[in-house]
Amino acid sequence: MNWHELWTASERYAEGKPALPHDAAPSWKLAIVTCMDARIDPVAVFGLHLGQAHVMRNAGGRVSDDVIRSLAVSQGALGTRAVLVMMHTRCGMLGLDPVSLRAPRPGAEPLDFLPLVSLESDLRADLAKIRESAWIYPDTALAGCIFDVDTGRVIPLASHG
Ligand SMILES: [Zn+2]
Repeated sequence: MNWHELWTASERYAEGKPALPHDAAPSWKLAIVTCMDARIDPVAVFGLHLGQAHVMRNAGGRVSDDVIRSLAVSQGALGTRAVLVMMHTRCGMLGLDPVSLRAPRPGAEPLDFLPLVSLESDLRADLAKIRESAWIYPDTALAGCIFDVDTGRVIPLASHG
């Protein structure tokens, strides 16, 4: 990794005088949970601009405890009321065997990697986890979709509210 390249790019960004929104609360009151896959640009996929939505990314786009933590802050402190969970085709978390990962150092706490078994059923289960969480506002509009990394198309799966 060439860190210098990153710092240089960040200087170019700042020199372009980006118009950053003053308010941290997303104007679309929307939070998107998706995979960290480098082929996915959720901002571009949905034509988002700065200040419109929160985007939470992790391996698989799973609704982990930490995503619930972030959603609780997103809703409670910054007023979002809609959540979209977007998983994707050819995800590296489909059938991931944690044994294939680097062995942890002795004494490491066990870690649930939340591998995907089936995109559709895991997506439905994660949507249910949000819906049933005591930390999530009951009037939350909830939707799920699958992003096709070959076509760039989004296939809506389910929406509730
Ligand atoms: Zn993925």
